[in-house]
Amino acid sequence: MKAITVEPKKPGTARYEDFPEPDVHAGSVLVEAVAVGVCGTDVEIVEGKYGWAPPGKTRLVLGHESLGRVIDPGPNSSLKKGDLVVGIVRRPDPVPCANCAVGEWDMCRNGQYTERGIKEIHGFMSERWRIEPEYAMKVDPSLGILGVLLEPMTVITKALEQVFVVGQRAFWEPKTALVTGAGPIGLLAALRLSARDIEVHVLDRVETGLKPELVRALGATYHSGSVLDLGFSPDVIVECTGVGSVIADSIRQIGAGGIICLTGVGAGGIASLTVADNAAAVVLKNNVVVGSVNANKRHWYRAGQNLARADRKWLSRLITRREKPENFKEALERRPDDIKVVIQFSEI
Ligand SMILES: [Zn+2]
Repeated sequence: MKAITVEPKKPGTARYEDFPEPDVHAGSVLVEAVAVGVCGTDVEIVEGKYGWAPPGKTRLVLGHESLGRVIDPGPNSSLKKGDLVVGIVRRPDPVPCANCAVGEWDMCRNGQYTERGIKEIHGFMSERWRIEPEYAMKVDPSLGILGVLLEPMTVITKALEQVFVVGQRAFWEPKTALVTGAGPIGLLAALRLSARDIEVHVLDRVETGLKPELVRALGATYHSGSVLDLGFSPDVIVECTGVGSVIADSIRQIGAGGIICLTGVGAGGIASLTVADNAAAVVLKNNVVVGSVNANKRHWYRAGQNLARADRKWLSRLITRREKPENFKEALERRPDDIKVVIQFSEI
């Protein structure tokens, strides 16, 4: 079969090549790939900045935002041939730590977890892949290709769970929420927040085009300036840019008792406030800054429900480009109008 593979930590090594059929030890469910979403992590791996091949191997099959069709459900699953499934990305560490032991691999304490397409397990950018039945999430068949948005939806399902769990530390009636960054994660955050009785605002750099349109279609307000110019202090900020100045501005602008959830992973940048200034702002307003990464099965299950309930027309506008596997390099390019780019392996 064909697969998109890379030698991690070596830039320029990605290629679409012949690759052995998936190892039966990778799971009893055999799946035909339909589509795989591309995200910033894939770009980083291809640029040689991140990623680990399986132990004893030099190359890693890329891809963690999957959608596939069951070819053979195997002996131990309730799946049927033809079911649409998405593969859970992370596996618990082998020790395991306390959190992995109770199924919260997203909260792994020792960092020895593994991740498909990222850390030591092959990903989903191959014509066929195998998975353990308990890590194959069935998606509503009427979603079709939109099932490829499940993995990003799990990230935001966990992040918002964290926000509302933290909110229970005191009497809390959040009225306004700001999402910084109108990429796939930010837009899905806006979608989920707009399902609540809360006023939703989204901020991004672009002034026109699909991002503002998608935000307004949710009944939310779009902003393209600085967080400091919002004109109000949000009760919740979901930070999806990872940009230092946006994070610092968010800490200055958040309301008293407000919660900032960081989901973006950036580096460097110029801090507009020093660490102690940021800390003082957090102290004096009882703020919580909470980081959130990955998701466990509870979030995957809820994300599946959330995706199935969402407006299909709106969701379908998030997928702005579909590329063939042989054109994976184009899929990894960031173009101005891109929101979510997917590599399509087979028709649906
Ligand atoms: Zn762990």
